Amino acid sequence: MTVKPRPGVMDIDPYVGGRTHALPHRPERLFKLSSNESPLGPSAKAMAACAAAAAEMGVYPDGGVQRLCEAIADHHGLAAERIVCGNGSDEILTLLANAYLQPKDEALFSAHGFLVYRIAALANSAVPVEVPEPDLILDVDAMLARVTPRTRLVYVANPNNPTGSYLTAAEMKRLHAGLPASALLVVDAAYAEYVNRNDYEAGIELVSTSDNVVMTRTFSKIYALAGLRVGWAYCPAPVVDVLDRVRGPFNVNIAAQRAAVAALADREHTDRAAQHNAHWLPWLIEHIRALGLRADDSVGNFLLIHFPTTKGKRAEDADDFLKSRGLILRRMEVYGLPRCLRLTVGAEEANRLVVEALKEFMAR
Ligand SMILES: *Cc1c(COP(=O)(O)O)cnc(C)c1O
Repeated sequence: MTVKPRPGVMDIDPYVGGRTHALPHRPERLFKLSSNESPLGPSAKAMAACAAAAAEMGVYPDGGVQRLCEAIADHHGLAAERIVCGNGSDEILTLLANAYLQPKDEALFSAHGFLVYRIAALANSAVPVEVPEPDLILDVDAMLARVTPRTRLVYVANPNNPTGSYLTAAEMKRLHAGLPASALLVVDAAYAEYVNRNDYEAGIELVSTSDNVVMTRTFSKIYALAGLRVGWAYCPAPVVDVLDRVRGPFNVNIAAQRAAVAALADREHTDRAAQHNAHWLPWLIEHIRALGLRADDSVGNFLLIHFPTTKGKRAEDADDFLKSRGLILRRMEVYGLPRCLRLTVGAEEANRLVVEALKEFMAR
């Protein structure tokens, strides 16, 4: 007899991240464009703070994460006591599920949404409810139509990964207005720093003006601290209280805390990363479209490329071709988009190589 995990756990497909080492014969140079990491890498000041933390690794970190919470609060104009930090925002998204989902409760999210939501729901024996998204943009009415008295969590990535689409502040407000008070809206704004649209709101305003909205953010993307694992949430006070009860006492390590404070302070580096993206994202979209491929608009640091269904020209064929050139994109089968590859905006050299390689791929 084996000890059984709770219902739902064995329905989870383990999360598989963007590849690096899965190549049969590795080309000279690899360009990892599969996990939406920043081509600029972390701030030199963040690296120095991380290195300096090594001298302190013999002692426990500050379990209250006070300095980092205060730095985040200053940076964004928030109240520090409404911020909870986590071992990546993944941890916070998971803790919300652990704390709020009972067996058979429902967690709502879009069909082409971030995989972590489904995993978190199933791990808690809850029911993942996936809202169809035929135009690859979240349909607020379709989502509201699936709300039931059992709906406890509503996860919305804004902007969404992998589609690159976003909900305007007005649409997000309309979604929130249609939810019952018994459901918590979780706005996952991992890519907020990249968005430059004036009808976008990361979630701060919505959290500030309601009792049932949480916004999560991360240091993994524009701040390029993915390897250290640090994210945070801005929450109503009762949600802070709940998360503080269920999180690990020292869930953010000492190097992560120090590096995140330094990364926030280095505004010049963050601006440079945003400017790099603002230049190269439209460049990639334009040049890929010029090859006759569909490339969707995106407000993140990545874009979705759609491939034909003809043999030799499919997404998997393109993936093989690009891989042979050392260009690693993300396959999209697990996101329900088998005809697509997701491309992270890279450094100039990588971006030019991708367009050149796709041109050859389409012409062969
Ligand atoms: C990358 C990403 C995150 C960030 O996860 P971390 O655990 O903070 O590294 C969160 N949500 C979405 C949609 C993402 O793409």
